Amino acid sequence: MGTIKQVIQYLEQLAPPVYQESYDNCGLLTGSADCELTKILVTLDCTEAVVDEAIAKGCNLIVAHHPIIFGGLKKLNGKNYVERTVIKAIKNDIAIYAIHTNLDNVQHGVNAKICEKLGLINTKILVPKTGTLKKLSVFVPQTHLQVVQEALFNAGSGSIGNYSECSFYSTGIGTFKGNEKSNAFLGEVGKQHQEPEFKLEVLVDDARLNNVIPAMLKAHPYEEVAYDVYAILNTNTTIGSGMVGELPQELSAEAFLKHLKSAMNLNVIRFTPYSDKVKKVAVCGGSGSFLLKNAIGAQADAYVTGDFKYHEFFDAENRLMIADIGHYESEIFTINLLADEILKKFPTFAVILSEINTNPINYYI
Ligand SMILES: [Zn+2]
Repeated sequence: MGTIKQVIQYLEQLAPPVYQESYDNCGLLTGSADCELTKILVTLDCTEAVVDEAIAKGCNLIVAHHPIIFGGLKKLNGKNYVERTVIKAIKNDIAIYAIHTNLDNVQHGVNAKICEKLGLINTKILVPKTGTLKKLSVFVPQTHLQVVQEALFNAGSGSIGNYSECSFYSTGIGTFKGNEKSNAFLGEVGKQHQEPEFKLEVLVDDARLNNVIPAMLKAHPYEEVAYDVYAILNTNTTIGSGMVGELPQELSAEAFLKHLKSAMNLNVIRFTPYSDKVKKVAVCGGSGSFLLKNAIGAQADAYVTGDFKYHEFFDAENRLMIADIGHYESEIFTINLLADEILKKFPTFAVILSEINTNPINYYI
């Protein structure tokens, strides 16, 4: 069918590991990427029961949202569920791959799935990240502008919002003098050459830089390519925490809660009262109380997330409705997102959604 590596490479295009938060531990946690793939089991949490399920169903790759190894392992003797899960996976040649905050932070990840379930439109990242973009300038002889430009675009640079193939070029004169070891494309050894060149500039995000630079060097005719990579402070509107969008029609607070409950298949919602209508909705899968200020700042009427603490609910102050739907409940549709994405790329692969309810929290109603 293929190798585990093929799946991982695709998932890393979807949610580049460079976008995970500093505390996170995404990636291949157990197993070997070179193994031949049998079947894939997709889960929110990789518990012992999920490893048992993988064994029973003949899956040798578990794709999990939450990394089972998070804070590091100092011993591996089966004293707790983390160690037992890891030991069982290793003994049974099962690879565990975690795709966590990198999938939270991309435009088509965990939060986009929540927005889709809620039917939100005009969605955008709630808190875009800064410091993830670079400016790349390369000096190109005028004859090769197009070929280098195409290579840059094809490798994934030059995108701004809904626009692709964005670049700027300006003319100037490049000078160079090759020594006796040089093999210059233009000019003569030992003599300064002057060449009309273009300075071609594009934006590149960090996740693409390792593809873009080799592609640029390959397309460029010079033996030594003059180029600069600058760190820039622009925000990257396609990467960051949370999302915000609008309901197609405003709803009363009560009607919104009803919609939320059915759209996310919930038993219970913990919420703060809100006297206004709900139109703009912010979301963050998992533990999202850290984005409350941003949701208020974005003038959202409701903020849908999980893991709010008692005192944090007071901060709503009727400026919006906090709707805490539970960590598990807010993220469980992530497994559908992952399975759909894998099948889009590899339609012949066997991808199974875990049937284990890994939610450690139960409700007695
Ligand atoms: Zn989570």
